[in-house]
Amino acid sequence: MSTAGHFIRCLAAVAWEAGKPLVMEEVEVAPPQKHEVRIKVHFTSLCHTDVCFWEAKGQTPLFPRIFGHEAGGVVESVGEGVTDLQSGDHVLTIFTGECGNCRHCHSEESNMCDLLRINTERGGMIHDGESRFSSNGKSIHHFLGTSTFSEFTVVHSGQVAKINPEAPLDKVCIVSCGLSTGLGATLNVAKPKRGQSVAIFGLGAVGLAAAEGARISGAGRIIGVDLNPNRFEEGAKKFGVTDFVNPREHDKPVQQVIIEMTDGGVDRSVECTGSVQVMIQAFECVHEGWGVAVLVGVPRQDDAFRTHPMNFLNERTLKGSFFGNYKPKTDIPGVVEKYMNKELDLDKFITHTVPFSKINEAFDYMSKGECIRCIIDMGA
Ligand code: NAD
Ligand code: ZN
Repeated sequence: MSTAGHFIRCLAAVAWEAGKPLVMEEVEVAPPQKHEVRIKVHFTSLCHTDVCFWEAKGQTPLFPRIFGHEAGGVVESVGEGVTDLQSGDHVLTIFTGECGNCRHCHSEESNMCDLLRINTERGGMIHDGESRFSSNGKSIHHFLGTSTFSEFTVVHSGQVAKINPEAPLDKVCIVSCGLSTGLGATLNVAKPKRGQSVAIFGLGAVGLAAAEGARISGAGRIIGVDLNPNRFEEGAKKFGVTDFVNPREHDKPVQQVIIEMTDGGVDRSVECTGSVQVMIQAFECVHEGWGVAVLVGVPRQDDAFRTHPMNFLNERTLKGSFFGNYKPKTDIPGVVEKYMNKELDLDKFITHTVPFSKINEAFDYMSKGECIRCIIDMGA
């Protein structure tokens, strides 16, 4: 019997309080409203952003809430006005959207949609501000409009990328966020030429994805910079990182170390730490005349970027990137195709898998810095 138009009762992992283990419980998921789709989530993965908002240190606490934004699933039903998706489509949920109608969506250069750009404060759906989730009559907040730590979720159709149905959802679900952010920062913004040198600052999931972009671009030298030496030994080598710099092992500024290693500076750099000091280092270590630095990390509210203007006059370029400059609906299916034709390697990012019932273990792995990506198998 079709579930379309009906409430669905299913399991969700609900965060009732900041920093407290998620509670597995039955919730009711309302049918999708105008421009929304309801999705059966097959695989979801845990990202730092989920952990940050669950801990709610420095963020507005909004509880109870269902977290989760990186996910692959299948459309169960669609709401009024949805014409580009139908029941049975294989999809990825995206934390930022593409309405298709605003100035940004009309611009070839932007992915910063006016309507559906990331909004961490919103706990309801755009259409009516209401939640589609409830537990014993109590409403539960959404997170990033995706809330994928539930067997079923409701998402705005502009935050849904329809992908190749042959693509394994347990792998491509990571394309939803961190992977695309780092990959696109290199492929779409830094754009290294074959043989060029690329420095990657911060070798977490985003930085390693940026390194994967450098590998795909045919970079000659990929220099990884991180304070944690395990990041290189246990991970980065597999990603084609050729050199490692640990700033703690040098008594001069990292930019100086890199300039000396590369005869004047790297051709490209990508910053994936969120530290403003590192952003400055990433900019000042690129070569005069042609070097390009791309900032990806999210800084603190009161940070200010300070560098001598001469660095710009000497023809160094500074850029920033949001979600790898990918348009969620238009471009993400193509990233999945890169995996399908073996240009992009995703498997090496997946270090852990847990069944949905053990989702709290994924938080432990992430908090201890033990994993790049942990897949949560909703069917196990
Ligand atoms: P992560 O914490 O897993 O990795 C960050 C790495 O940076 C760690 O390995 C850490 O040891 C290293 N690091 C920290 N300080 C350093 C320093 N001073 N010098 C060298 N290395 C240092 O984080 P992640 O999930 O990979 O995310 C990286 C950044 O990207 C975060 O700031 C995140 O908020 C941001 N992000 C941005 C976007 C975007 O669209 N712009 C999207 C997602 C995430
Ligand atoms: Zn738009």
